[in-house]
Amino acid sequence: MAREPATPALSSGRLTIDLGAVARNWQGLDAICTNAKVAAVVKADAYGLGMTKVAQSLYAVGARFFFVATLQEGVDLRAVLPGAHIFVLNGLWPGTPALYTEQRLMPVLSSMPMLEEWLRYCLSIGSAFPSAIQFDTGMNRLGFRIKDAEWVRQQITNAGYKPQLIMSHLACADDPAHEKNRTQLALFQSLLTHFPNVAASLANSGGTMLSKNYHFSLTRPGIALYGGAAVSGRKNPMARAVSLLVPILQVRDAQTGETVGYGATQTLTRKSKIAILSCGYADGLMRHLSGSNRRSGGKVFVRGQFAPILGRISMDTVAVDVTDLDEAVPRPGEFVEILGANITIDDIGAMAGSISYEILTSLTGRYDRRYINAPPAVADTEHEAAALSLSAQ
Ligand SMILES: *Cc1c(COP(=O)(O)O)cnc(C)c1O
Repeated sequence: MAREPATPALSSGRLTIDLGAVARNWQGLDAICTNAKVAAVVKADAYGLGMTKVAQSLYAVGARFFFVATLQEGVDLRAVLPGAHIFVLNGLWPGTPALYTEQRLMPVLSSMPMLEEWLRYCLSIGSAFPSAIQFDTGMNRLGFRIKDAEWVRQQITNAGYKPQLIMSHLACADDPAHEKNRTQLALFQSLLTHFPNVAASLANSGGTMLSKNYHFSLTRPGIALYGGAAVSGRKNPMARAVSLLVPILQVRDAQTGETVGYGATQTLTRKSKIAILSCGYADGLMRHLSGSNRRSGGKVFVRGQFAPILGRISMDTVAVDVTDLDEAVPRPGEFVEILGANITIDDIGAMAGSISYEILTSLTGRYDRRYINAPPAVADTEHEAAALSLSAQ
């Protein structure tokens, strides 16, 4: 990588987000969901990539359904996309139905208190505001139990209410061989018999790739849009959306027997050249990527080769071993790859004992963020609310 001395980034890392890749990934999933609509999950600031830019790009290529986690995220997304259909996964926060309806946000109702408060509000206003109802089919996270289906059906029937979506969430969609996928699918199908003519949604990214049986009316991919491998043990078909380059601050010579970093966990067994990078755990470089004599840590890519992390990762810096680089010793100001063509978000997730999701959502540090390849923006006139048209299967 070329040396870039007086960088305008003022010695912080450079995080590049390829909005064209995110948009292509959505289009790729849209192409395989021939009978279902494809939503986009943009919670947690679009997995750390930046909700505003990501959502605008996805809207530009045709996405109209979006999922966020919190009410605040819903309010923020509404300000950006006046015409989108927005579901709030964490449901109805007590005392806030009016805020949802003013903002045209749809809560994912997951408990009796949530459903009762929503129906009471709809009756008081005399309007059946749209929502989704979530059932738990085997994850013990949010959602009604299956045995409550009849109670839910009675409540909505008594209120003259019809939800926009019945949904559930898969626990093991990243593992196609896992029996739980079939069990959850069967439970979901039996659940839907209580709610004929209501649209349904089950699949996250992994579920979308499992088979068409999991698609129903609406799929809900997140990680696949951002380039992560949604299904383990298969070639990842998605385009890479993120790269992270960080600069070298100093290259130092160190002697056999000396130690590197806090806790002196790594003793050098040879004369070494160590590059100190301007990136630490405060920038999302998880401390679990630290190296020691007992356990090798993560690695970075510099001058065409991998260089292992030495010792504990500090808040603002990390040491890497560049002794074995074939080419000339790298120089201060030169950028090395933490994430990119040679190290994927899944690679670093595995090295960190974590997952691509947590790697992405941790990239909140002091980066010079650049967005590239954004699709042409949608004209203001096309931001009018499109009809909420989801068909039951
Ligand atoms: C986060 C989330 C998704 C998206 O999951 P991915 O694995 O990132 O595709 C879909 N549905 C629900 C309920 C979620 O919480």
